[in-house]
Amino acid sequence: MNSQKSSNGANHFENVACPFCGLHCDDLEIGPSGDGLKVLKNGCAKAVAGFERPLVEPNPQVDGKDVSLDEAIATAARLIKESRLPIFGGLGTDIDGVRSVIALAEKGGGIVDHALSDGSYRNYRVMQSSGWVTTTLTEARNRADLFIIAGCDVQKMHPRFFERIVCNEASMFSDTPPKRTVVFIGEGLDHSALKGQERIGEVITLPVKAERIGEVLDTMRALNKGATIPGNDIGGLPRAAVDDLLARCKAASYGVIVWAPSSLGFPSADLTVQAVNEFVKEINLTSRFAGLSLGGSEGSTSAGAVCTWQSGFPLRVSYTSGKPDYDVERYSLNRLLFAKEGDLLLWLASFSPDLTPPDTDIPMILLGTPSIKPARTPKVYIPVGTPGVDHTGVLMRVDSAVSLPLRKLRQSKLPSAASVLEKIEAAL
Ligand code: SF4
Repeated sequence: MNSQKSSNGANHFENVACPFCGLHCDDLEIGPSGDGLKVLKNGCAKAVAGFERPLVEPNPQVDGKDVSLDEAIATAARLIKESRLPIFGGLGTDIDGVRSVIALAEKGGGIVDHALSDGSYRNYRVMQSSGWVTTTLTEARNRADLFIIAGCDVQKMHPRFFERIVCNEASMFSDTPPKRTVVFIGEGLDHSALKGQERIGEVITLPVKAERIGEVLDTMRALNKGATIPGNDIGGLPRAAVDDLLARCKAASYGVIVWAPSSLGFPSADLTVQAVNEFVKEINLTSRFAGLSLGGSEGSTSAGAVCTWQSGFPLRVSYTSGKPDYDVERYSLNRLLFAKEGDLLLWLASFSPDLTPPDTDIPMILLGTPSIKPARTPKVYIPVGTPGVDHTGVLMRVDSAVSLPLRKLRQSKLPSAASVLEKIEAAL
């Protein structure tokens, strides 16, 4: 049963999809607790923080003063109409919200970009230039016998990744699948979730600085092609450790390299993503291997997908000429703000109060969760509900393979971002 009334008449939900990180686990149990919600089963700390956030329903504001929703919408529409170059940023919303903000940008002649797209572009650049072979969470969970975690603290980003994808005792094909080897390449990566897990065989830690992971992978590519590599130090690792890792990759029946572009915060990090993916393509000639990119928080996977469906380009799209125009550098949200090219910022953050807008002196329209605290008072503030808590919605999972339906779990007067954006568009 998916939903049932509890003893106090409030709803008790099973198999709830969680919107608070890109995994979108869909097995949570949520029940009522006083005026709010309680995660009863299968939640992590992030899920608890999100679902159990108290419901507050502040009024919309213009210049910090309470107004009606209609007045806030009218003011927002006027600001967009008068703007020379509005920027539609943040984009922390569900699929309907992204569709609506793109429609608004199209009509208002603006530029769309997600708050986290600096990280996403480390992937997009590689996908666009040389392609890749990636897998899904489900494939990895059921088939992989070797996981390589490259440079990302998965436990911190996705607290249930190891539980759901790596430590599952049974697979789709066997109740007693073989044990898995998990290799961590990087520094300070938390692998405590693997301790004592039946399914896990060896856990190997290779301490490599994030910016040298590409060097290790490129060396493995060369070795795999029969090249002679002199020296005993490869990316800070002893040569024997690299030889051993390559041998394990060749022997794996299904290897998966996991990375998260947001964790690779150094210059030209897309080259590390490329090294990972070229290795995967080449090792696939003799064994089975795939990449798996993680991240996708704050609806960033959905934003990239919807923008691609609608414009043909993954974010950083301008509608100022009346048709989609794509430029990775020129239409970067941060660059536009830094260069003071935009004169209005509409910021969307409906999942987390942590997705605060950049501190900018241009006027701002903020559609945000009630507990968000911007550095400056926005010109217009419209509190919006969280998809999957205050209203229904759909989100794309981080592997872009599945879209998950989100439920409305509580009675809330907070409107969806999509409904507010549609009204602003109608008022333009
Ligand atoms: S791992 Fe992510 S999707 Fe799963 S319960 Fe935690 S926050 Fe939600």
